Amino acid sequence: MIDALPWDPEMESPATIAILGAGPLGIEAALYARFLGYHVSIFETRRVAHRMLDWNDRLLELPAGQVTTSLGLAALEAQDPAYRPPDPSRVFTGKEYAEEYLLPLAKTDLLFDDIHFLSPVVDLSRLRARNQPTPRHFDEFGWQERCNDEFRILVEGRHRGTWCSRADCIIDCRGLGPGRVGLGPAGGLAIGEPETRKEFLQHLPNDRKFDPKTYDEKKVLIVGSTAEACRVVQECLLYGRQDRLTWILPPATSDQSDYLAEARKELSEKTSTEFVMIESLGVESISKTEKDRWQLRLLKDDDSTLELQADVVVSKTEYREEALGTTLLADNPHAVSFLEGIFRDFRKEDSTPKPADRRMQEVLTPEPGYFRLRAQAGLPEGFERIRTLFAILGDRADLDLYQIMRTQAKSS
Ligand SMILES: Cc1cc2nc3c(=O)[nH]c(=O)nc-3n(C[C@H](O)[C@H](O)[C@H](O)COP(=O)(O)OP(=O)(O)OC[C@H]3O[C@@H](n4cnc5c(N)ncnc54)[C@H](O)[C@@H]3O)c2cc1C
Repeated sequence: MIDALPWDPEMESPATIAILGAGPLGIEAALYARFLGYHVSIFETRRVAHRMLDWNDRLLELPAGQVTTSLGLAALEAQDPAYRPPDPSRVFTGKEYAEEYLLPLAKTDLLFDDIHFLSPVVDLSRLRARNQPTPRHFDEFGWQERCNDEFRILVEGRHRGTWCSRADCIIDCRGLGPGRVGLGPAGGLAIGEPETRKEFLQHLPNDRKFDPKTYDEKKVLIVGSTAEACRVVQECLLYGRQDRLTWILPPATSDQSDYLAEARKELSEKTSTEFVMIESLGVESISKTEKDRWQLRLLKDDDSTLELQADVVVSKTEYREEALGTTLLADNPHAVSFLEGIFRDFRKEDSTPKPADRRMQEVLTPEPGYFRLRAQAGLPEGFERIRTLFAILGDRADLDLYQIMRTQAKSS
C-alpha cells in the first residue's frame, strides 16, 4: 500500500524525529526510534505520564504483560542490571504503571536528555514548503519536495519561553486532546459555558489531586455520557459524601454504547433523594447566581426546559481533538480526502486488507512525515501501530524490534 503514496516515506537514520506528548505511546515511540538510531526530541505540555499518574489508584484494564513491551523491559534492564521485570499477570494501578515503568524509562540514558517537559507545542509548519495543494492539483503537487523539507516546531516552554525546534518527522502522540466538547445538546456549547467552564470541578474522589473541601456536603452535578462519566458517577456514589449527586445524561437510544446502557440500567436502580438521573438533550444555559451557585437550564427531548441549581458542576463530555498548525495538510479536508482516495483505490485492488495495512491507514496523514498514534483501541494495539510506523520509516515491512527483543531475552 505504501507504494501507492505520491511520496516516499522512508527515512534513514540518523534523522530527527519530534514526538509530541510523553504518555505511554510517546515514550514507547521515542524508545523504538532511539533503538533504531534516530535522534529524538520529545515535547510534553506537563510532565511525563501525567495522565497515568492522574489515573492514580485505579487499576489498568490490562495486565503488565500487555502494557509493557519487550523493548521497554530491555531498556530498563540495560540501564540497571538489578532490574526485575514485573510479573506479566500483575495488574498495575495507573500510578504504579507510571512510577515503575514509564518514569524509569524516561530516565534511562536513551531518553533522559531528549525530553522537554512543561513544553507544549503550539504550532507546526514546514520550513520552506508553504504551498497548499488545491483540489484540482493534487496529482501534480510536489509531495516529495514537501516530504524532504524540515518541520518547524514552535514551543512555549514554561522555563525557556517561546522557542523553535526542527525535525525531519513528527509523531503526534498527544492523546485524548486538550479539551472537551460542550455541555449543550449534541456536544454544542451551552449559553454562558465559555465564560464559566474554568470553574467546573476538575478533580473528583479517587483523583490524585482531589480535595474533599471542594466536594463534600455539596450538591454535585455531572454532565456527560462517556465511559469516564459512567465510571466517575459510580465512584462518586461509592464515596458518598456529597449532599446530592445529579447525573445529566442523554435519553436512551438504540445505538447507545454498551457501557452507557449498562451504567444506565445499573444506576437507575440506585436513584433516591440523594442520587438523581435526569435525561436531557443537554444544558441550554449555565450561569452563576449571586450566591455563587450554578444555575442551569436543561433542554428536554420534548423541547421543554428544566431549571436546576448546584454547588459544583463536572463536565465529562467527549474529548475533542485540536489541529496543530494551520498550514499542515494533516487536517486539510481536501488533502485528507485525497489520501482516502488512495486507500480506497488500494482496497479495490486488494479486497482483503491485512492488519498491517489497516494500521498504516491509522498512522498515516496526508502531511508527508507526520504520523499520528492514538491509544483509543488500547495500548497493545498502540504498540502494534508503533511497529507499523517504524516499518514504514525503515522501508522494511518485516521490521519488528519487539520480536527481536523477545528472541534475545529468551536466548540470554
Ligand atoms: C482517570 C483516568 C481514567 C482512565 N481510564 C482509562 C481506561 O479505563 N482505559 C483506557 O484505555 N484509558 C484510560 N484512561 C486514559 C489513559 O490515560 C490513556 O489510555 C493513555 O494515557 C493513553 O496514552 P497516550 O500516550 O496515547 O496519551 P496520553 O497519556 O494522554 O499522553 C499524551 C500526552 O501528550 C501531551 N500533550 C498534549 N498536547 C500536547 C502538545 N501540544 N504539546 C506537547 N505535549 C502535548 C499531554 O500532556 C499528555 O501527557 C484514563 C485516564 C484517566 C485520567
